[in-house]
Amino acid sequence: MTRVFNFSAGPATLPEPVLRQAAEEMLDWHGSGMSVMEMSHRGKEFIAIHAEAEKLLRELMAIPANYKVLFLQGGAIGQNAFVPMNLLRGKAGADYVNTGEWSKKSLKEAGKYCSVNVAASAEAGHFTSVPKQDSWKLDPNAAYVHICSNETIGGVEYHWTPDTGSVPLVADMSSNILSRPVDVSRYGLIYGGAQKNIGPSGLTIVIVRDDLIGQALPITPSAFDLKTQADNDSMYNTPPTYAIYIAGLTFQWLKSNGGLAAMEVHNRAKAALLYDYLDSSSFYRNPVAREDRSLMNVPFKLRDDALDAAFLKGAEERGMLQLKGHRSVGGMRASIYNAMPVDGVKALVAYMKEFEASHG
Ligand code: PMP
Repeated sequence: MTRVFNFSAGPATLPEPVLRQAAEEMLDWHGSGMSVMEMSHRGKEFIAIHAEAEKLLRELMAIPANYKVLFLQGGAIGQNAFVPMNLLRGKAGADYVNTGEWSKKSLKEAGKYCSVNVAASAEAGHFTSVPKQDSWKLDPNAAYVHICSNETIGGVEYHWTPDTGSVPLVADMSSNILSRPVDVSRYGLIYGGAQKNIGPSGLTIVIVRDDLIGQALPITPSAFDLKTQADNDSMYNTPPTYAIYIAGLTFQWLKSNGGLAAMEVHNRAKAALLYDYLDSSSFYRNPVAREDRSLMNVPFKLRDDALDAAFLKGAEERGMLQLKGHRSVGGMRASIYNAMPVDGVKALVAYMKEFEASHG
């Protein structure tokens, strides 16, 4: 068996010990005589799996007791609609900060349900930075302020937490959740798809402060009303059981590797290897402002995009896959989530040097 270094932006590489354990437990989970996939979500086995996953996530992120943790479906794109449906609370509009393709999608969708105030936008600079908070034009009557904490396509990440006063801060953390510690108490709601740092696609994590629940628009689908789901422990409808099980294994893996503080050290070390090399080279470049560079997604361009195909082919021959950049920006992108080992980044940098030497 050969495992490649998979630089995909998501679904993405998962920790090998998690996959091995899932393989071992595939046919018979803990003597139950069945796979987790085959279990009733109402049975005691799955209820224990679900409770353990929530407990571990609360522990890893130090989630305060007045926050609900929900395991839902519909992805982050679903949340683009469900957030305004649930959080408008009688208000007319919400603030959105536009830092890239994912923010843009969020604010466009929200526009179907409320008036959207774009409080700040990095579009004029081609989404290569996070606008400084002193430039934001926040509306004091906004229902919430929405940010995307890590733009997966542009490789732009917040390394600070906005201060929105009494207006709840909402973050799409799809691509940097669990990559480092965050102070959950600074947010009203955090959401993210699981398919980068957590597990299989199909699971959406929502972490929401109690007092924001219970005022959904009447048109909100029951399965996406936070109150219905909170009242039913995320089991109003059948939850994505297997994805929750894998998420639990990943949370256990994170805990046994030192939790989020250790993960941050690991992620900073990997990102530094790549950015230091990019900055030292005149052959490759990353356009993002240094202080706003993502630790998770590193886009870069070659000096001549006519070399892209040869670069990708050579990478593939060396067991490094999914390095092609998003079609909207071109070039390359290395996604280096928690589960990407440092050896994967070392191998990539070594190959980039070799390619530069032969084509530079
Ligand atoms: N937001 C961000 C930051 C993302 O990276 C993605 C997926 N790449 C999405 C939203 C969309 O997620 P989904 O496809 O799970 O709805």
